[in-house]
Amino acid sequence: MASRTETILRHGFEDFREFVNPLIALRAELSGEPATMVRALDGRLVDRQGQAIEDFHGTQAFGHRNRAITQAVREFLDSDSPSWFPSRVNPYAGSLARRLCERANRTLQGERHAYSNAFFSSSGSEAVEAAIKLARIVTGKKRVLSLDGAYHGCTMGSCALMAKGPYRDPFGPHVPGLSSIPFADSDALAAAFAAGDVAAVVVEPIQLEGGVRPLTKEFVELLCTLTKEHGALLVADEVQTGLGRSGKFLASETWPRRPDAILLAKHLGGGLLPISAMLTRRELFEQAYGQNFETSEAHNCTFSGSAAVCVAAHAALDLLTDELIDRVDRIGTALRRAIQESLASLPLFAEVRGAGLALGIVLRSTDHPWLSFEHFGMGDLAHQPTVGLLLCHRLYKRGFFCFVCGHDWSVLRIQPRFTIEEERLAEFVRALQEELSYLCQLV
Ligand code: PMP
Repeated sequence: MASRTETILRHGFEDFREFVNPLIALRAELSGEPATMVRALDGRLVDRQGQAIEDFHGTQAFGHRNRAITQAVREFLDSDSPSWFPSRVNPYAGSLARRLCERANRTLQGERHAYSNAFFSSSGSEAVEAAIKLARIVTGKKRVLSLDGAYHGCTMGSCALMAKGPYRDPFGPHVPGLSSIPFADSDALAAAFAAGDVAAVVVEPIQLEGGVRPLTKEFVELLCTLTKEHGALLVADEVQTGLGRSGKFLASETWPRRPDAILLAKHLGGGLLPISAMLTRRELFEQAYGQNFETSEAHNCTFSGSAAVCVAAHAALDLLTDELIDRVDRIGTALRRAIQESLASLPLFAEVRGAGLALGIVLRSTDHPWLSFEHFGMGDLAHQPTVGLLLCHRLYKRGFFCFVCGHDWSVLRIQPRFTIEEERLAEFVRALQEELSYLCQLV
């Protein structure tokens, strides 16, 4: 008899189309995305046709179904340890909180003590919500700012901080007081502080979905100064950039002032289980939730820091050694250089930017009528650039699952696993050069 897993892998893809999201299934079909993944193999995925594919989405920093992580979770499941604690005094959350704070306090510039409290939830968006609520309760102010082009998640608070467009606009009215200012614009930031009502500024050190756009040094300096002067919380959404992705443990660890809150998610659960965290200072937590017993649990979620998930996070942190983060920095720098050199002469290539293994390849657009979304029968996407998605389509066939940035389809987002072999990256650069050259001939 087929196991449950086998049955799901046989029928679940069609069930997804029917019961979850038909348009996602149709899009995958039309764009030739390798969608029927049935096996993980050495960090890659293998589809029904037997093609192995390297996933560049970035959630699987240690490779799909990393053995050390599955093994740690299996050991926990085979034990008789409690996995949920009715008193909420949860040793798994406790030990992970201690470890994350201690690791975050150790920076490339030595010990910079900043974090002594953690709140756990499941998604990046919930970590953003925790920061919005912390900022309001600590400062007594209402206004929370983000930057244009941001991606902070899809719950109502984080959605209000998102870039303008389909992820945000249809869902109004938004949470009052939450809005964005122009990206990395120092004058706009200074002007926003003038009214004295800012509770927090939430920023991504590098906007990934917004087109792999790093904040400028000047803007970060002003952000650090103004938030301190006005007693507003500086919140770094490191859901994408954190945990080694930028070539440092935290992309913000060298900022002049350490953020009051750091948000982590994505591969915190080793890519296997969902967990997110907000790291902050004990004083801030106590101001917010430590004044009386009644409010001590005023912000919570039922499965905050539940055991199996924390075990996966411990296993992920075991893997995330200083050596591995150095490797991300080294191979990321080499990859960026190789992409720059091999694509430099191609007219559809504009630039490559980012840090570590969070890179963005900026592509020029074309107005060739055959290469428009209208031509492919997707008229509602007519305003979107096509070159990035056409390149993705061609790269799937070469064994690389790339993505364009959610808010900027002219940028190809490159976020390989930290353990990727250097030969495979060289193979990727070759494929990228050949496929973009092919597209250049068409326009
Ligand atoms: N913040 C950033 C910077 C993100 O990129 C994302 C998701 N891509 C989120 C928050 C939201 O995370 P989640 O999808 O887990 O809610």
